[in-house]
Amino acid sequence: MQITPDGGVPIVSPRAVIPEEGLKNILGLDRTELRDAIAAIGVAEKQVKMRTSQVWHWVYHRGVSSFDDMLNVSKEVRAKLAEHFIIRRPEVVEAQYSEDGTRKYLIRFHDGNEAEAVYIPEEDRGTLCVSSQIGCTLNCKFCHTGTMKLVRNLTAGEIVAQLMIARDDLGEWENPTHGRRVTNIVMMGMGEPLYNFDNVKKGLEIIMDEEGIQLSRRRITLSTSGVVPHMERAGKEIGVNLAVSLHAVNDAVRTDIMPINKKYNLHEVLNACANYPGAHNARRITFEYAMLKGVNDSDKDARDLVKLIRRYKLAAKVNLIPFNPWPGSNYECSEWDQIQRFSDIVYEGGISAPIRRPRGRDIMAACGQLKSASEKKSKADILREAAAVTAATTDGHHTSTGLT
Ligand code: SAH
Ligand code: SF4
Repeated sequence: MQITPDGGVPIVSPRAVIPEEGLKNILGLDRTELRDAIAAIGVAEKQVKMRTSQVWHWVYHRGVSSFDDMLNVSKEVRAKLAEHFIIRRPEVVEAQYSEDGTRKYLIRFHDGNEAEAVYIPEEDRGTLCVSSQIGCTLNCKFCHTGTMKLVRNLTAGEIVAQLMIARDDLGEWENPTHGRRVTNIVMMGMGEPLYNFDNVKKGLEIIMDEEGIQLSRRRITLSTSGVVPHMERAGKEIGVNLAVSLHAVNDAVRTDIMPINKKYNLHEVLNACANYPGAHNARRITFEYAMLKGVNDSDKDARDLVKLIRRYKLAAKVNLIPFNPWPGSNYECSEWDQIQRFSDIVYEGGISAPIRRPRGRDIMAACGQLKSASEKKSKADILREAAAVTAATTDGHHTSTGLT
């Protein structure tokens, strides 16, 4: 991967596709699968447990991609491992750097499909926004990903690989426990994570494993558009923080902008939030609310939002997201003053309602701007689109940039 920060100008770094050589890629196996795989290639039975721990440590704690680097594994076993397995990340076909430090990776998987991941550095943390699907089955009207069809779910390995790729790029493996740059993960990239439950769960379990990457569940947030039947299960089985895309305070508006509301309406979604394990105390739910001019941003909407959250007795916080435009989008971002007023009204109602600063807009890396997969664009297209967005975003307050 060849990446040079260059004032937000996209850098294309094509790389030769290496054939799979018939070897099994161990990236994305969970511990049990890794143990079984190691046992199956004839490693002595009494060594299997130890070798599994060692390989796991090298792959997920140290980030190596060659068995030769696994220094505490005997030469003989290393040779056996290399005969059967590979440790291979998907290809980074393009890495773009925003003026504000945000980095967007376009990742091509073995079958040629592509998804994006975004790294957002802040003063006290670094957040990686991870995709769960290529495309999305839902068609929220304000979301660029929603204009794509679902191509397929990502595997657990492909979900973990997004983090490994960001850590490679940020030079983070040299010092795995101190000075981390990716301190937080948000499942807020392309796709609806709860429609890919098993792979998301397995991927996050690998990421949280205490002998591997060791990211705490408190630093991981899963965002859902409100897939009610899987919300409680997510709390119980994955145990990460929950963010819910609300975006409207009544069913008429929500159904108009988020068709999933026809299936699971506001009442059902808020009820599921109230039942989310830990929602009333330790694990506060975050509501995401994209500010769409003239659609959901009135003073009355703000007051209704407070009432709604109170009615369900939720210890929730609201993240106000200035709408991020994309080519062909039919919405405008609310006026800055109105976003501020909205935030103040919700605050006065006793609910925290920070305005999310847009990040990475110049490279189309902000919330709801991700799109790719089978529709790979040329560098010229990307530059044209970025220019169109800059021209469309005339309000000086939030022309800057950004994601989640
Ligand atoms: N599918 C999941 C997670 C991915 S989207 C979900 O919908 O929750 C991450 C967040 O960005 C969601 O809250 C989504 O509604 C919001 N979003 C989508 N398009 C946006 C846009 N153009 N501007 C601002 N936020 C947007
Ligand atoms: Fe899919 Fe989320 Fe975009 Fe809706 S907002 S289309 S659920 S990715």
